[in-house]
Parts: sequence; C-alpha cells; structure tokens
Amino acid sequence: MYKIRYIGDPVLRRATKAIDTFDKSLETTIHNMIVTMHREEGIGLAAPQVGYSLKLCVVDISSIEEEEEPRAFINPEIIDSWGEDILEEGCLSIPDVRDDVSRPEGIRLKYFDENGQPREESFDGWMARVLQHEIDHLNGVLFVDYLPPFKRRIWQQKGLLPEKF
Ligand SMILES: [Zn+2]
Repeated sequence: MYKIRYIGDPVLRRATKAIDTFDKSLETTIHNMIVTMHREEGIGLAAPQVGYSLKLCVVDISSIEEEEEPRAFINPEIIDSWGEDILEEGCLSIPDVRDDVSRPEGIRLKYFDENGQPREESFDGWMARVLQHEIDHLNGVLFVDYLPPFKRRIWQQKGLLPEKF
C-alpha cells in the first residue's frame, strides 16, 4: 500500500520516465496503485501521487459507470482530442478542493497495457476526463493550475490550497 503525496511535494512537479520493462515489479506497482486508489476512494491515480516518477496511471470509474473496471495505462499519450466539456474535478493530492475545469470531451490515446502491448483507443465521458487529469500528473500539471486567480484565492483563503504550489 502506498502513501499519497500532497500538493507542495516536489515529486508532483517532477518529470516522469517512460516505462520500458514490463515485469513482475511493474505488475506489483500497478496492483498496489489500484489498492491505494480504492482505499482512498479515488477514480484515478498517477504514479507521482505515490512518489514514483513514472509514466503510469490507473483509472477505475466503476462507481460512476458500472460496466467499467480498474485499468492501467502505461506511457499514455493523447494523440487527438475533440469537443469541450466543463466538469467538476477533485484530486487525492489536493484534499477537499473541487472545482470546474474545462477540457476536451473526447480523446484518442496511445498507450501500453500491462503486458507491454501497444494499444490505441478513443475515450469520451468520464473516462476521457479522468485520463486527461491523470496524464497531466505525468507532466507535473495539477488541475488547480487551470483555475482562474480569483478561484485560487477562494481556496487559499479557506486554507485548502497553499500560497505557492
Ligand atoms: Zn489528481
């Protein structure tokens, strides 16, 4: 089980490394990330959020869309996107802050599955939303970076967002 890293921890801003070895240790990391995400009641978790600077994230939106199950995305890369959607986001690394973020509503994603197979797939709805949020983590970006200054101030005045982040 992993500990969650919170906003202000430099690992959340660090560059991540592509994964090139698909072995037992990767499988264990993925398993532990899924267990951690479930324990924290999150719908997505990126490796930097548990201290690993790796291009890896897990997503499980089954609490929103029943037919989905936990999935891992390795070296994910958005190659196309379309539309626009405003949805409220939160982040396990930024407890109690939730706010609207505008992002494309659909994405085309290139990634590797846990067996090292290259895959290409399109996503929309919540799956696209969570994937974009998690892929941002792999690039050191947090959803609060998108908030306009007046909204940041509100969260900062509530003491839920640091002055500098
Ligand atoms: Zn997050």
